[in-house]
Amino acid sequence: MTVGTLLAVTASSGLHLRAEPEKAAKSLRVLPTGARVVEAEQQRGTPAEWVRVLADGAQGFVAATFVAPVATVLAAPSRSMSQPIAPDRRSSDPLLLHPTFRAKALAVVDALNAEGIPFRLFEAYRAPSRQAYLYAQGRTRPGDIVTKAVPWASYHQYGLAGDFVLFEDSRWSWDAAGHRRAWWDRLWVIGEENGLEALKRFERPHLQLARLEVGDLQAGRFPSGGDSSWLDNLVWQIEAWAGPERAPPSPGERPALSDA
Ligand SMILES: [Zn+2]
Repeated sequence: MTVGTLLAVTASSGLHLRAEPEKAAKSLRVLPTGARVVEAEQQRGTPAEWVRVLADGAQGFVAATFVAPVATVLAAPSRSMSQPIAPDRRSSDPLLLHPTFRAKALAVVDALNAEGIPFRLFEAYRAPSRQAYLYAQGRTRPGDIVTKAVPWASYHQYGLAGDFVLFEDSRWSWDAAGHRRAWWDRLWVIGEENGLEALKRFERPHLQLARLEVGDLQAGRFPSGGDSSWLDNLVWQIEAWAGPERAPPSPGERPALSDA
């Protein structure tokens, strides 16, 4: 297995995500059967029976015998394909991200955490229905404006963007005052070092794959290297979209962008 590989929990009664690679270590949460986790960078000295993973934004260790690469166990469509995410709910499932962005997003979280800066991936794939819901905020719905992008105009709809938020004392925090200001600066710097671009002041937590044009995405020209977990969801979202904004043509109907 390699970093970024999607793994599914195969244990029939769930699996502990532990803080350290040993059975007696603190359980961070119990991952249900079928849950998707992503293999993270392994640490030196970790016993072979343990694998370090990222699960819904948290990182920890699971017993290696109870996870398997998704490609070998994914028989049915994932829950997000058969059951669209409600528009007021975010998804932090790395499964639905394009593999290129997925690997970079995980690398950014790892690098920040290694510096003691507690960022996690807060929102990953965002369905066009949720983009419409967020776009309405501050316009036709109460609240502050949170996005400039209509459905299919945000990289989130293509699995090519993520929102990274501080997670301290078991709480999400958007605080950028005092010493935390420098943490957000590090998010942007490390993002850029990993080939991502920040929107900075307008959408502080947002990083997206750099050197793309949203017009290419809207025309159905996607980065190459997509895997089935990304592609199946995107195709589903395109086929299911019924809003006034035009969805892109389905992947496969247009040539992919080159890796250059
Ligand atoms: Zn965003």
